[in-house]
Amino acid sequence: MTKRIAVLAGDGIGREIIPEAIKILDAVGVRFGHSFEWHEGQVGGDAIDATGFPLPQETLDLAKSSEAVLLGAVGGPKWEGLDYERRPERALLGLREQLGLFANLRPAKLYSALAEASSLKPEVIEGIDVLVVRELTGGIYFGQPKGIETTSTGHRGINTEVYTTEEIARIAHVAFKAAQKRNRLVTSVDKANVLESSELWRRIVVEVHKDYPDVTLHHMYVDNCAMQLIRNPRQFDVIVTSNLFGDILSDEAAMLTGSIGMLPSASMGADVAMYEPIHGSAPDIAGKNVANPIGMIASGAMMLASSFNLSEEAEAIEQAIQTVLAQGYRTKDIEAPGTTLVGTKEMGTRILKLVQDET
Ligand code: NAD
Repeated sequence: MTKRIAVLAGDGIGREIIPEAIKILDAVGVRFGHSFEWHEGQVGGDAIDATGFPLPQETLDLAKSSEAVLLGAVGGPKWEGLDYERRPERALLGLREQLGLFANLRPAKLYSALAEASSLKPEVIEGIDVLVVRELTGGIYFGQPKGIETTSTGHRGINTEVYTTEEIARIAHVAFKAAQKRNRLVTSVDKANVLESSELWRRIVVEVHKDYPDVTLHHMYVDNCAMQLIRNPRQFDVIVTSNLFGDILSDEAAMLTGSIGMLPSASMGADVAMYEPIHGSAPDIAGKNVANPIGMIASGAMMLASSFNLSEEAEAIEQAIQTVLAQGYRTKDIEAPGTTLVGTKEMGTRILKLVQDET
């Protein structure tokens, strides 16, 4: 099986962690008899320096003509003074919009060797494995009217939460399908006691659920969910929610697991999906060979499972990550007493060797 993949390393530590993911995916290819064609494109600050634009047409064409996109991270202090439209982060919105990426999937899974790294007690977080499915292209971030108006007494800031039947139904299908491959429980999070848009959300999710009788559906108000994630995160399997609530809850769920450097994400929609770690370009540690590459490597595993249906291959990477942590190797962000500190490249190489050696 040959797969054509767009590689957008971007800025900061994106440039250090992408090569680690690629070397491991290539090793998986050798072991399982697949070949991956890597096609590099410029994005973010890197693209601004070369072309003046954060998402050049050439990069967009490359992404659209690929079977998946692997993205590092974008942004950094060098480009912070630019107009909003010209900033590196605009590339992410452009890619989401142009590729029709309406669903953002963020698994928050605790690697048992890292239970001590969480700010919660080990007995609360032991074994958590939550997938947050966030609607990504609708809701209050995009609804009209929006803006700041001048009034006789000052100003008025306006944003509008809007969801249509179609937008809710398609994200609900993503969540139920994901649950079918997991523990068959979906918690739909809304604020239906106050918001009409949430009332519709709940109604449509109930309707879509009829297609998935093998999945259990629960509803939860967002304020309760924020609390339950801290109190008893093991009760969740798949959480599906709107753009705004998902933005907040996915960060909360991620931090349960201890480090921002560990977690992958997928954004999917029509044909091409995009995979990236949840963190940014980390300018404070860029170029020092200290960044944790595991979130990027796990994003590669997610790509194998979700875009290419290569579950066994993805599992081989997951297994190697678990083993390397159990052996006590840690990058700086997850270092603990009694563990062995390694740099970005060494962590990548150790995971690579485990992938090669597993039989
Ligand atoms: P960040 O995620 O880059 O960094 C936050 C903190 O976490 C930093 O202390 C950083 O050193 C640490 N960190 C992040 N990833 C790490 C890793 N893999 N290993 C070890 N430590 C890690 O967030 P920020 O500092 O708020 O943003 C920096 C830049 O990244 C900004 O320009 C921001 O706009 C951009 N950003 C990009 C994305 C993206 O590309 N998807 C996401 C968030 C932020």
